[in-house]
Parts: sequence; structure tokens; C-alpha cells
Amino acid sequence: MSDPVILWFRRDLRLSDQAALLAACADGLVVPVYVLDDDAPGDHAIGGAARWWLHHSLFSLDGDLRAKGSRVILRRGNAVEQIAKLAKDVGARRVHALHHYEPWWRDAEAAIADRIDLVLHDGNYLAPPGSVTTGAGEPYKIYTPFWKALGERMPPAEPHNAPREIPVPTSWPGSDDLADWDLLPTKPDWATGFGEDWTPGEAGARTRVADFIDEAADYDEARNLPSQEGSSRLSPHLHWGEISPAYVWHRIAAAGRGKTGVNTFLKEVAWRDYAQNVILQFGDYASRNARDRFDPMKWRTGKTADADFAAWTQGRTGYPIVDAGMRQLWTTGWMHNRVRMIAASFLVKHLLIDWRRGERWFWDCLVDADYANNAVNWQWVAGTGIDSNMFVRIMAPLSQSWKFAAGDYIRQWVPELAALDDDAIHDPHEAGCAPRDYPAKRVEHRAARERALAAYAQMKAAS
Ligand SMILES: Cc1cc2nc3c(=O)[nH]c(=O)nc-3n(C[C@H](O)[C@H](O)[C@H](O)COP(=O)(O)OP(=O)(O)OC[C@H]3O[C@@H](n4cnc5c(N)ncnc54)[C@H](O)[C@@H]3O)c2cc1C
Repeated sequence: MSDPVILWFRRDLRLSDQAALLAACADGLVVPVYVLDDDAPGDHAIGGAARWWLHHSLFSLDGDLRAKGSRVILRRGNAVEQIAKLAKDVGARRVHALHHYEPWWRDAEAAIADRIDLVLHDGNYLAPPGSVTTGAGEPYKIYTPFWKALGERMPPAEPHNAPREIPVPTSWPGSDDLADWDLLPTKPDWATGFGEDWTPGEAGARTRVADFIDEAADYDEARNLPSQEGSSRLSPHLHWGEISPAYVWHRIAAAGRGKTGVNTFLKEVAWRDYAQNVILQFGDYASRNARDRFDPMKWRTGKTADADFAAWTQGRTGYPIVDAGMRQLWTTGWMHNRVRMIAASFLVKHLLIDWRRGERWFWDCLVDADYANNAVNWQWVAGTGIDSNMFVRIMAPLSQSWKFAAGDYIRQWVPELAALDDDAIHDPHEAGCAPRDYPAKRVEHRAARERALAAYAQMKAAS
């Protein structure tokens, strides 16, 4: 009981409802550590916007730990080596951590378990990924039956409070300085707008939940309207594990289970669980078409496609709803879900550019960039996923913009269109009043649709 044990933090940067922390406290003198490993994830090392979040979240976690007499030790490098080295340095006999399901974390967990006693706990999902199975014991591939089975196991267990005390070692091992990790952008500092929208850390996450409680009843309709703040904006807090999904579930359900909005919200939270269930089955989901008949698809490449891709990233496609979304993403590190779908569909179908390029851009720009959620949603939109929209269903961005009343959203994010009224703002080119500094459409809707359908037909003939 008086020996040191390691508490290995990853995307679970909280003290409440943190099963690994509770177990570590009961097991010994707790040495909390976060290891920044940029090699293990390959091309999915933490992206630029997410690094901004991580810096602030670690700062906040350290403050919360220090309030209890503890701290977080920071180490950089290969996670397996660093954990093994730290264990040796402090004489720890065991490591406690929450399960993570990204393929590189599963590999690291196996390698660490070969060297030291590693105890993995649940708690970052509503139910442990892999545990929701069909009657035959098979994992689900499709969301709807997955949710039906998961829903029958809900509610999740009541969340635990943070431990009142954390046993600390007699001396602390060396730690990197957070500032030396250079997680924050400097030249140029493109994240200046992030701080206005976000408060990373457990306290910020809890405030976000409290603020959403009154909104949840209206979620059903409001979540689809980008001009309103109708969704919870909990995604980066949930991604970084600053709050547990069980806590979110119980707080929001208590506010009105049975109300349609609340039920719909809880069903959306379950998409996180579904996405983990998918990457547990298909570890390379971010890089391979789940439907391999899409492999021969002739995505556009070359100079013109590159110029189209650049215009898309900069929010200069000539489609206001797409441009507003891409600029919101760049400025705040987040994009409204309905607009994510429209912007992603525009890249894949209107511009006929491989969904993987879009996935990588989002990965770098989102503060909530999540290996599973990002890949599952990109493949859903592209039509290549195990559960997905059909490729031939081509979303019309201008009608979507009308339907979901995106006028004010466009005015906020595309200032050159701010003076246009509701009749003109969704398609200023068609209305004949596009200001000179607003770009022409990269492609006409009808021509884009025909090109995408022809590419699909060609792919089908080839597969
Ligand atoms: C192309 C594309 C890429 C995406 N990439 C990511 C990503 O990298 N990280 C990420 O967290 N979400 C991603 N999403 C899903 C979704 O857009 C965001 O989770 C949501 O917009 C976050 O806003 P919110 O917290 O207000 O969500 P709310 O509507 O309030 O939902 C509550 C929570 O449920 C979860 N959730 C909701 N919708 C989804 C969904 N479709 N898939 C998975 N989880 C969901 C999130 O954790 C979210 O915070 C992506 C969607 C698309 C279409």
C-alpha cells in the first residue's frame, strides 16, 4: 500500500469518475503521468488544433491535482519506453490506466503489459467497447441495432466523485515543462480565436454540461440549425476525457428523460460508443475504404484538384454554407455537425476528392479530432463506410443552407456576404449579387453531380 503505482493519463484528463485514478489511490502512492508520443500514432499524431487543447487541458489537470497535493509528471517520447522507465525510476510495481481503443494505444498497452503489471479500467464510454454484441456474440457493424442493444443496457453506472485525497510519493520524479512542448502555435498564432469559445479542462467541461441542461429539451430541432447554439459543444471535452459520458448521461437525463430532445441527445452521445466499436473491428478505418469496391474509384488528383482542395480548406468554394463551415473550423477549431456533413459531402462528391484528404484536414484543424469519430463520419458521408449514406445520394449544399436557415451563420463567418438578405445569401451568384471579393463557384452543382455519378458508374464497372 505504501509502494508507488503509476497512473497513466491519455484521453481521460479528469479526476471525477476516473476509475484508474480511484484504483490507483486504493493501491499505492500515486504517480500521475502523461506521455506525449508523436511517433506511435503514425500519421495520426495529435493535430495542430488538438495540441492547443491538450496544452490547456494538461495545465488545468495539473492545477486540479496540485489542489490535492499531487501533480502530473510530463514525459515525451515512446510511451512504452517512458512508462517502463518511469516505473523503474520511482520503483512502481503497477500501472493503472483507462482502456483506449486506437490501434496504436492497443499496441502500446500490450507492450507495456509485457514489461509491468498493467491494469486497464473502463469509463471513457457508456459501455466498454467490444462488450455490446449480437445474440451470436458478434460485434455490431450498423449503428441502429448497436444503439438498440446499447440502449437496453442504459443508464450507465452512476458516476463517481473525485477522490478526496490522493496518496503522494515521498519525492517526485523529474518532469518536462509543459511550455517546452510547444503545443501552442506561435508563428503565426492561428489559435487566437479559440480561447473565446473554449475553456479546456474538467471545470470548463462541467460548466458546459450545466449550460446545456436547459437547452437539451429543444435539441431535436435546434441541433440542425447552424445559426443557433442548439448542440452541447461537449465534443472536445468528451474527446479529451475531461468529463465522463456517464456523467453527461446522468446530468442530462435527469433534466428530462422522456423529452424527445433529451432522448435524441443521448442517442447522439451513443455514436461515440459506436465509432469505437467500429475501430475496434477495423483498426485502419481512417485509411481504408470499409467497402473495398470503392478502391478503384477515380478520385480527382493533380493541379486543378489541388487548387480545389486548397479553396475548400480556405472556405473559398463559392458555396456560402461550405465556406462558412470551413472558416468556422479554422477560426474556432470546431464546426457545426450539419455543416460538417455538408462540407465533407461537398469535398467528396462535388469536388470528387478522396475522403481521406478531408479526414486529414479535419484531423489537423478540429479541437475534438477523434480517430474513431472522424473516420467513421467521413466514411459515412463518403458512402464507403460499413454503415453509411449512399454515394449516389448527393447532398445539395444550397438547398441544405435554405432548409436549415443558415443565413445568420453565413453572415457571421463569411463577412463579405454579411449585407445580403435571406433571399440572396444562400446562393449570391444565382441571385446576381455576389460581391466582387467573394469567389466564384469552383464547380456548378449540376455538373458536379453528373461528374460524381459518372465516376461512381465507372468504379462499379471496374469492381
Ligand atoms: C465529416 C465529420 C467529421 C467528424 N469528426 C468528428 C471528430 O473528429 N470528433 C468528434 O467528436 N466528432 C466528429 N464528428 C461528429 C459530430 O460532428 C461532432 O461530434 C459534433 O458536431 C460535436 O458537437 P457537439 O458536442 O455540440 O455535439 P452534440 O450534438 O451536442 O452531441 C453530443 C456528443 O455526442 C457525440 N456525437 C454527436 N454526434 C456524433 C457523431 N456523428 N459521431 C460521433 N459522435 C457524435 C459527441 O461526442 C458530441 O459531443 C464528425 C462529423 C462529421 C460529419
